[in-house]
Amino acid sequence: MIHDIIIVGAGAAGLAAAIFAGERARGRLRILLVDGAKKPGAKILVSGGGRCNVTNETVVPSDYWGGSPVIIRNVLRSFDERQTLAWMKSIGVELKLEPTGKYFPVTDSARTVLDALIARVSEVRVGLRSQVRIKEIAFTSELAELTTASGDMLRARRVIVAMGGAALPKSGSDGAGIAMLRSLGHGIVPITPALVPLTVASDQVELCRELSGVTLDARVIVKDATGRKLHDRVDSLLFTHFGISGPAALNASRHWLREEHDNPGKPAVLTIGAPQFASGDDADAWLMQRGKDNPRRHAANVLSEIFPDRLATSLAGDLPEIGKLTRGQRRTLAEKVHGFTIHVSGSRGFSFAETTAGGVELDEVNFRTMESRRVPRLHICGEILDVDGRIGGFNFQWAWASGHVAGTAAAAALIQ
Ligand SMILES: Cc1cc2nc3c(=O)[nH]c(=O)nc-3n(C[C@H](O)[C@H](O)[C@H](O)COP(=O)(O)OP(=O)(O)OC[C@H]3O[C@@H](n4cnc5c(N)ncnc54)[C@H](O)[C@@H]3O)c2cc1C
Repeated sequence: MIHDIIIVGAGAAGLAAAIFAGERARGRLRILLVDGAKKPGAKILVSGGGRCNVTNETVVPSDYWGGSPVIIRNVLRSFDERQTLAWMKSIGVELKLEPTGKYFPVTDSARTVLDALIARVSEVRVGLRSQVRIKEIAFTSELAELTTASGDMLRARRVIVAMGGAALPKSGSDGAGIAMLRSLGHGIVPITPALVPLTVASDQVELCRELSGVTLDARVIVKDATGRKLHDRVDSLLFTHFGISGPAALNASRHWLREEHDNPGKPAVLTIGAPQFASGDDADAWLMQRGKDNPRRHAANVLSEIFPDRLATSLAGDLPEIGKLTRGQRRTLAEKVHGFTIHVSGSRGFSFAETTAGGVELDEVNFRTMESRRVPRLHICGEILDVDGRIGGFNFQWAWASGHVAGTAAAAALIQ
């Protein structure tokens, strides 16, 4: 049997592509969605701590990194966060907005989102087959031929690739899709884990172990070896037995890791500091005032006003009472308060990453259709492309938006 459209990958992007292709086709096309995993949507189920952060109150291109911001803007515009809210409502998923700007289902269960998407796939008459792993995709002048891991051949007039990146490989997305598109002639931006916990060098392991479990709001700054600022954000940071995690570390991770990849031997510098101080001078002025207010307080006790106790004690070390600090001691302490250098050694890798930086070159797709500029009749959407967003529902918004464009365009091309 020849299908009109085969969508490979039933994650967020593939499910969206299938639904919008089905809606556009209104029963006039034979559409099949296949996934290699036993059950599709594994990543949706684990997302947002099992609650699925579907989108964000405000989504703009600067929430993303990777390829051309113009292409990212155009894709996001074609299906924006308000359309996601309306779409989710239309398939029976009621969302709530949290103070952080993140939208979650009111049930606080990612299962609600996945079940609604799968039900909609069936409503719009798209077939869904699990445990169909595609090994190879080839294009003849007429058709796409997809070879499965069990040796079967599937044929389609158009293909939508939504195979994800390499993050969380146990979910079924292990980078195989990227290799397939490379062999079809696509340029690939080298991939690195993103939104991933960071590990520290041996000289700071003990410190992180001591602080393990401590969370704080921190300003995390990443600068390259020349001092150029790559990242500067305030988020919640968590110390762990191996290093740092929490949104602050995850959001910073792609910048540190990209720099390590692009400029080996010239590591970026990552600092964490108290968010209220814009500079070491500000922190120094604050310490000086505290010294005047109550010179007999110990330095650690003063720092515990702005840091959790364990971190305050660790930063102050065996410094004496605040009033007895020399100018040099106070200055050094102020610099640490503003930006304490974490000696990052690497990351926990793709197995612990929420997304992938790098992927298929973005300017090799037409943003109006997500059709490949290299391989006609092939559409590409989701994480497999060179786009990664920060924490907050941005990666799903990219998946929904790019899936919407790909699905709608692939169906439209066949029923015109
Ligand atoms: C722990 C975790 C939490 C996250 N939380 C959030 C969150 O709350 N909000 C947010 O916006 N983002 C979150 N993300 C990121 C988000 O899940 C991804 O950006 C999104 O799932 C990407 O969608 P996708 O469809 O492009 O890829 P995927 O979800 O990776 O789906 C790809 C699908 O393709 C299938 N596949 C791969 N190769 C083949 C093959 N050869 N043959 C057949 N099928 C194949 C896979 O089995 C998989 O089902 C989280 C990610 C993780 C890992």
